[in-house]
Amino acid sequence: MWVCSKCGEAHQDQFKECWKCVGAEIEEPAPPPEPAPAEAEPERPLRSNGSVVLRTVIAAVVGWCLGFAVLQRYGMSASDAATNALGVGLFFAGVVGFFAWVVFPFEPAPSAADDKQADAGKPESSV
Ligand SMILES: [Zn+2]
Repeated sequence: MWVCSKCGEAHQDQFKECWKCVGAEIEEPAPPPEPAPAEAEPERPLRSNGSVVLRTVIAAVVGWCLGFAVLQRYGMSASDAATNALGVGLFFAGVVGFFAWVVFPFEPAPSAADDKQADAGKPESSV
């Protein structure tokens, strides 16, 4: 003798399946399992404007220095090289600014170590 765990119907040992539940399944096919909701991509924080501007300024300075060095090397006077290097600096700033603002506008993905630190700060949600 055994009792169906679903409906509580008692059965003789020779029956392997519950006739009641099997009949119900035939009448009402179980609805297809709901598709698991797609895991939403965690929103990555955008770079702050300050960090973009900082990168752009650094790029401008680096570009100006490079332009100044190269132009002087090719025989331009220091004052002319400094003036023309401004164009190089602007170009560098434009490229870096474009990349930081448009192409990779997100903060770099946090590393595993950062994740651990973040988890350590949270209270335990499950035991
Ligand atoms: Zn049953």
